[in-house]
Amino acid sequence: MAAHQRIAIVSVYDKTGLLDLAKGLVQNNVRILASGGTSRMIRESGFPVEDISAITKAPEMLAGRVKTLHPAVHAGILARNLASDEKDLAEQNIDKVDYVICNLYPFKDTVAKINVTVPEAVEEIDIGGVTLIRAAAKNHSRVTILSDPNDYAEFLKEIESGEVKESSRKLYALKAFEHTADYDAAIADFFRKQYASEGESVQYLPLRYGANPHQKPAAAYVKEGKLPFEVLCGAPGYINLLDALNSWPLVKELKAALGKPAAASFKHVSPAGAAIGEPLTAEERKVYMVDDIPGIESSPLAAAYARARGADRMSSFGDMIALSDIVDVPTASIISKEVSDGVVAPGYEDAALEILRKKKGGKYLILQMDEAYEPARSETRTVYGVTLAQGRNDVEISPKSFTTIITPKGAGPLPENAQRDLTIATIAIKYTQSNSVCYAARGQVVGLGAGQQSRIHCTRLAGDKADNWWLRFHPRVLGIKWKKGTKRPDKSNAIDLLVSGQLPKSGTEREQFENFFDEVPAAFTEEEKTEWMSKLSDVCVSSDAFFPFTDNVYRAARSGVKYIAAPGGSQNDVPVFETAEKLGITFVEQNTRLFHH
Ligand code: 5GP
Repeated sequence: MAAHQRIAIVSVYDKTGLLDLAKGLVQNNVRILASGGTSRMIRESGFPVEDISAITKAPEMLAGRVKTLHPAVHAGILARNLASDEKDLAEQNIDKVDYVICNLYPFKDTVAKINVTVPEAVEEIDIGGVTLIRAAAKNHSRVTILSDPNDYAEFLKEIESGEVKESSRKLYALKAFEHTADYDAAIADFFRKQYASEGESVQYLPLRYGANPHQKPAAAYVKEGKLPFEVLCGAPGYINLLDALNSWPLVKELKAALGKPAAASFKHVSPAGAAIGEPLTAEERKVYMVDDIPGIESSPLAAAYARARGADRMSSFGDMIALSDIVDVPTASIISKEVSDGVVAPGYEDAALEILRKKKGGKYLILQMDEAYEPARSETRTVYGVTLAQGRNDVEISPKSFTTIITPKGAGPLPENAQRDLTIATIAIKYTQSNSVCYAARGQVVGLGAGQQSRIHCTRLAGDKADNWWLRFHPRVLGIKWKKGTKRPDKSNAIDLLVSGQLPKSGTEREQFENFFDEVPAAFTEEEKTEWMSKLSDVCVSSDAFFPFTDNVYRAARSGVKYIAAPGGSQNDVPVFETAEKLGITFVEQNTRLFHH
């Protein structure tokens, strides 16, 4: 029996290298079958070629929509070296195909054009080519699929010396699968933009721009189902959504861990504050500027937000808020008084929604989160063109996470308040840009150091914030006599200047500062500060990774810290633990590293 003449099906949009390929195939006695344009180009160059219709016995039709779609083509590609397949082919008089060379219509280039219409895009959806590629790639144990002209030369070298190696066939198949996957992704992307931003089940949300105004186009989308939130008011920006999608799980987890309504105040994808709804003392109501909010005593959610916003009022200016529960009127009333960008919550009472809708001239961002939403276990993102994938950080933090007490040795379980505050600090850092260290007390974050490259800088930053928070309870601050009409942000900024020790002794800034008061408060002396700090106790600290040096423990101790939770693993673990013990600090090993980026 004569040896089977090898057959190549060639159908390429991008005709780069086609003639060299045809020449090589002919020299190796390969029979070439090609679709319309491809076959014309080969024929015009004088190489022997047959139209696909030679085997399909059917003309290309529907203006090219149907060219290669035919059992004579696809059975020839898909047949295995099995007796049953051979029999099927013989009955239909079909020859096996050995090589498929195909690349697709330029869908991406077409849809990249400005104002492209749906019909124009539709015409660029390759059907037969994808089928050729997929069939050949599926049957790569026998068939070679070339979807990239850059591979022609190497392929020709291989057939020159006999057969295409199995290892090459595998790599060509992988490339082919990537090619069709990328092609389908581009098509889905185009139609998502066209069709998925309408109706109830919004799947695609165009954004005005990305992190900066020149970063366009920008969008938020899911590939399946619908977005897990609904926009009730306003138009979210890219950073708003980064904040919302980090702050929502934070409050959800806080509530699940501690059983109380929770709130977070986010800025630049890190919390400025986070808290649960512990009742507020009269002093706290004053410091957090909520003593005029009706009904706040009976709203744990409002107390939670007052605490979250009150932790670091300067940083919370223009925040994205997350609330674990249906938003009530007291909570909405606090928000209505603050400068804020938006809120995400599982729902809103009608009257609360009405209050919020009036904010920012009707442009306040209000997102309603689907409480039942569970994100996929794995997450991906692209950075500088490279896709990074990882499992989601779904580790559960709860009071039970703080049972491994290292020092003092033989200590019993932590008091409930310490368990609570370590839980808050640790869940907060789980959603804070690393490195991060968080101080918590009284059911809330009191100081958070985010995004520092060195741990001690986080510990200092967070400690300084905790000190500022505590100094805001000093009678001198509580007794400030503001000039009538001083705005809340100006009050927050002036208090921060005062308590942080950044107040200049003279000059324009000093004059502006003095203008806010009927009676200008005196700056704090070092002695006054130290004396006041000595009244702060039982503060908890959590760190997203181990403390490499003892300096962190010394710094924490100066801000009333009594409990520290951090992973171990540093070469300096022992000195760190011993320092904590010396300073009367309980050191708890929280064994999960919690970097977040
Ligand atoms: P040609 O220039 O040879 O006429 O067409 C080559 C292009 O047609 C290739 O990009 C190939 O993917 C595509 N193609 C091959 N078979 C079919 C088919 O049956 N229908 C459609 N719509 N495109 C096909």
